[in-house]
Amino acid sequence: MNVLVINAGSSSLKYQLVNVETQEVLAKGICERVGSAEAFHKHGIDDNELVIDEPMEDHNAAMAVVLEALTSGPNKAIDSLDDIDAIGHRVVQGGKYFDRSVVIDDDVIAKIDELAELAPLHNKAALMGIEACRTQMPGKPMVAVFDTSFFQSIPPKAYMYPLPYELYEKYAIRKYGAHGTSHRYISERAAAFMDEPIEDLKLITCHLGNGCSISAIDHGVAVDTSMGLTPLDGLMMGTRCGAIDPAIVPFIMEKEGLSTQEVNDLMNRKSGLLGISGISNDLRSVKEASEAGDERAQLAYEMYSNSAKKYIGQYIAVMGGVDAIVLTAGVGENCEKMRRMIFAGLQPLGIKIDPEKNKLRGHEREISTDDSAVRIVVIPTNEEYMIARDTYQLVKEGSLEVSELA
Ligand code: AMP
Repeated sequence: MNVLVINAGSSSLKYQLVNVETQEVLAKGICERVGSAEAFHKHGIDDNELVIDEPMEDHNAAMAVVLEALTSGPNKAIDSLDDIDAIGHRVVQGGKYFDRSVVIDDDVIAKIDELAELAPLHNKAALMGIEACRTQMPGKPMVAVFDTSFFQSIPPKAYMYPLPYELYEKYAIRKYGAHGTSHRYISERAAAFMDEPIEDLKLITCHLGNGCSISAIDHGVAVDTSMGLTPLDGLMMGTRCGAIDPAIVPFIMEKEGLSTQEVNDLMNRKSGLLGISGISNDLRSVKEASEAGDERAQLAYEMYSNSAKKYIGQYIAVMGGVDAIVLTAGVGENCEKMRRMIFAGLQPLGIKIDPEKNKLRGHEREISTDDSAVRIVVIPTNEEYMIARDTYQLVKEGSLEVSELA
């Protein structure tokens, strides 16, 4: 079955066409700056990628460009739209309504729209992607896969904020988490890699990239995660500050005369690695600068690793132990030095990274020493495959089965 996976942002449309049975990616690409005069389309895999300037006034126009590229031209992947069996949409906020992926109907669309209050840019963008698919491919089955649904199992003691209870009742202010599809994928894959049933494992999953989140997964069930009402909470990230003393917000608003929009922008786009180093949000550049002796870059690097270390400690306490720590995303998968720093000093907790194995590159691998009580595993994430698999299961088999991944 071929599933078209759509990840629509406010001015972008990212896609992959996946054959679920073989896990082969048949085509992928992205339309960027949709709605502006500088819109362009990248389509193709690795060296075959083509970049074409294309006018795209909205997501519907972008979808038409995508479908044209999939079915014709030099990087064509299929003969006709009949070769797309179903469509899987990434949706950021599923709120309290969705604890799993669902087939999209009018009621689901209405709920995604209602939840846009909690993720205005993201949910509205997903709806634009859904509408564009409905217009271009009427009748094609569609599934919504939510970033938050994996975390609906978190208990109230972890998802509530100690604010007046009425705020929860009035505005549904609570922790929802994010990156759920990635945490679900790497936890399932880690269990398969370790050849242990996920129901027997206490896992801490670390998605460390430009965005960062860490989750506690107790016997296959998410019990806590670092992102909150929004993806600003938790760890220090590329440009996001993560958790800070909340009193800082009114303080800087008053001192700097900032509006809510401006202070939000400061915390989301000007903080994190970029804010501290003053150099970049990209860890590679910060690492280079720190190794060249830049003190602020060194500080930023140390803060990033310390922030991850602290969440790992918290979640060991939350679960009363851990069997394996799983790493993914740009930094988690690739940065030997950051991994070394995160696990430095954790030997008393039975966590020992193997310096030689830590140098290995490649696919799924273990980087802890043979005598480490806690295993450390690197699993490259694959959110698109997870979305395609949920879509396949709901459309072809009529139900979602949490089975071991192929
Ligand atoms: P992601 O958001 O998952 O795409 O991850 C992006 C982050 O991963 C950026 O901060 C990159 O600098 C970082 N990254 C990717 N490859 C490496 C690498 N080999 N060493 C250090 N950081 C890396």
